[in-house]
Amino acid sequence: KKSPMEFDPKTVLFWEKGEKVPFKFACLAFELIEKESGRILITNMACNMLRTVMDTTPDDLLALVYLMGNRVAPPHEGVELGVGEQILMKALSEAFGRNIDQVKRRLDVVGDLGLVAQESRSSQSMMRKPDPLTVAKVFSTFKMIAKESGKDSQDKKKNHVRALLVAAADCEPLYLIRLLQAKLRISLAGKTLLAALGQAAVCTAKCSTPPSDIKSPLEEAAKIVKQVYSVLPVYDKIVPALLSDGVWNLPNICSFTLGVPIGPMLANSVTSISQIINKFENMVFTCEYKYDGERAQIHYLENGSVEIYSRNAERNTGKYPDVVSTISRLKRPAVKSFVLDCEIVAYNREERKILPFQNLIKRARKNVAVSDIKVDVCIFAFDVLYLNGEQLIQEQLEVRRQRLYESFEEDPGFFQFATAVTSNDLEEIQKFLDAAIGASCEGLIIKTLNKDATYEPSKRSNNWLKLKKDYMESFGDALDLVPIAAFHGRGKRTGFYGAFLLACYDHNKDEYQSICKIGTGFSDELLQNLSNSLRSKMIAKPKSYYRYGDKINPDVWFEPSEVWEVKAADLTISPAHPAAFGLVEEDKGISLRFPRLVRVREDKSPEEATSSEQVAQLYRNQDNNHKKVQDDVDDD
Ligand code: ATP
Repeated sequence: KKSPMEFDPKTVLFWEKGEKVPFKFACLAFELIEKESGRILITNMACNMLRTVMDTTPDDLLALVYLMGNRVAPPHEGVELGVGEQILMKALSEAFGRNIDQVKRRLDVVGDLGLVAQESRSSQSMMRKPDPLTVAKVFSTFKMIAKESGKDSQDKKKNHVRALLVAAADCEPLYLIRLLQAKLRISLAGKTLLAALGQAAVCTAKCSTPPSDIKSPLEEAAKIVKQVYSVLPVYDKIVPALLSDGVWNLPNICSFTLGVPIGPMLANSVTSISQIINKFENMVFTCEYKYDGERAQIHYLENGSVEIYSRNAERNTGKYPDVVSTISRLKRPAVKSFVLDCEIVAYNREERKILPFQNLIKRARKNVAVSDIKVDVCIFAFDVLYLNGEQLIQEQLEVRRQRLYESFEEDPGFFQFATAVTSNDLEEIQKFLDAAIGASCEGLIIKTLNKDATYEPSKRSNNWLKLKKDYMESFGDALDLVPIAAFHGRGKRTGFYGAFLLACYDHNKDEYQSICKIGTGFSDELLQNLSNSLRSKMIAKPKSYYRYGDKINPDVWFEPSEVWEVKAADLTISPAHPAAFGLVEEDKGISLRFPRLVRVREDKSPEEATSSEQVAQLYRNQDNNHKKVQDDVDDD
C-alpha cells in the first residue's frame, strides 16, 4: 500500500511501505504547517504526518518526532548540536560553491540563512544527482554532529553539514539549516507535537479500541501523551511504547524514572491577599516564602549520585558542586533515594542572610570547581516528589511536606525547609508577607494543602498562587519580555539604542507579539552593555513570526535572544500593540503603560517569556484588583 501525505492533494509524496521515510516528506509538511496559523489544523497536519509514518515505516517515527520537536536528545541530557553561524556559512559556501562573502552579503539582505541555502541550491546546476536524504539519515547525522568534540570538532561538524547540504534538494536546504540552528519555528511548539502524537496513535491502523469509558478518544489520547511526557520527557521511551502497546496503556509503561526530571509545577499570579482568600475559599492553604534564586529539582539515586535540573529540565549538576556535596551528606540514614523540589539561593553564611538574586548570577555556569566558588548558596526545599522508590506526586501537599520534614535534617545556611505558615487570617498573612520581604524574598507562594493539592507536573496551576511584592506596589506586574527591535538613541544616548520594542510570546501561534516600547530603567552602563549584546543579534528584517503594530517603525530588528523582566504602571487595551490580540477584547491587543526594566532574566529562554494568555490573565486580575480597591474606597 502506498502512503500519501493526506493533508494536501497537491503535494502527495509516495514511498513504499517499509522504505525509509524521505526527508522531503518532513520538509513539505513543514512548509504546509508553516503557512497555517490555526492550532487545530496544525495539530491535524502533524498528526497526519506521524500517523503516515506509523503505518508505513514505524522504525523512522522516533527520528521524525525528534526532527519535528527540533531536538536531538531529551533536554536533561544536555546534548546540543553546537553549530554556530560561522560553521553553517562555511558548510553552505563549500556545498554550493559560493564564496563566504557572497553568503554573508545575501544573509544581510534576506536575514535568514535557511533562505540563503535554499536559493543557493536552486541556482546551482548539479552534475550528479546525490541519493535523496531520509529522515533517519538526517537525524543520525545530527546525532553525530552533536557528538563531535575536542580537536578538529568544528571542522568535522562542518563536513557533516556540508554532506547533508550537498544531498539536499528543493525546500530541504531551508529546513536543514533551520533545524541545525534550532529555529524550526513552524508553530509546532511542544504541546502541539505531544497532542499530535497522541492523536496519531489513535488514528493509526493498528490502534486498539479505546476503553469503553472514553468518550472522546482523540482528546483523551492527546491528554495521555502530554501527561506522560510531563513525568518522563523522553521520546526514546514514549515512542517505542506507543508503537508496541498503543496509547491507552502508555501511563503503565512510561512513568516517572529517577534521574529524569519531571516538568516543574508553576504558579498563577495574584495581586493581593484578599484575592488569595477569594480564590481559596473554603480550602485549607499554606503560605511559603517565595525565594529569589534558581529552581532546582534534585535527584538522589540509589548509587549515591546526585543530579540537579533547572526549571527547563536542563542539567545543572556541573554548576552546583557545592549543592551536590551538601545533598550527599544531609539525608537521614533510612533515605536511599529521593527527588526534591527546591530553590537555590545566594547566601551569606556569616550574617545568616539571603542575598539578592544578582549575586547568584555571578556564579559560573559550567564545570565549576568547588575551590572557585565565591558565592555560597543555601538550598531551600519546598517539596519531595519521590522517596525510597515511592512516587509522591499523587499525594496531597500535606503528606509530601510531612515526608520532607521527617526524612531530612536542616543544616542552616546549607539546607533549609522553605519557611511556611498555614493560616487564613488576612492580618497574619500580611505579617508573614512582610517577614518574607524583610528576609529578601520576592513574596509568597500560596498552596492548597490537603484538597486539590497533588503535584501537577509542567502545569501553571491554580492550586499554587504567587503574590509578589512588586505586584502590590503598582497595579502593574513584572512581566518577562523579549526585545525584538530597537530605536536609535539621541542626545546622551547617541551611539546606543535609546528604546526597545518588547514582545510577549504566544505559545499557540508560536509568535512574538509586541507589547510596548521601553526606554527607562537603564543606567548608561547597562544600556551600553545591552546595546552591545543585542547588536550581535541584529537581523535585516523582522521575522515572519513577529507581530507588531503597523505604525511601529524601529531602526533595527533582533533575533529573539534575551528575556527582560519589566514592571509597569498598568496594562491597557491597545490598538497599537498585538499582545494577547483578541483575548480580552476583539480586534485589540494589550500594552504596558510606563514600563521600566527590572533586570535581565538569564534563566529564561525567549519561549519562556510571559505568554499572551498570561498577559490577558494579568490584565483581568488587575481589572479585578482595581474593582476591589474601588469597592474598598466606596465602602470607606
Ligand atoms: P517568577 O518569574 O515569578 O519566578 P516563574 O515563571 O519562574 O516565575 P512561577 O511558577 O511563576 O515561575 O513562580 C514560581 C517560582 O518561584 C518557581 O519556579 C520557583 O523557582 C520559585 N519559588 C521560590 N520559592 C518557592 C516556593 N516556596 N515554592 C514554589 N516555588 C518557589
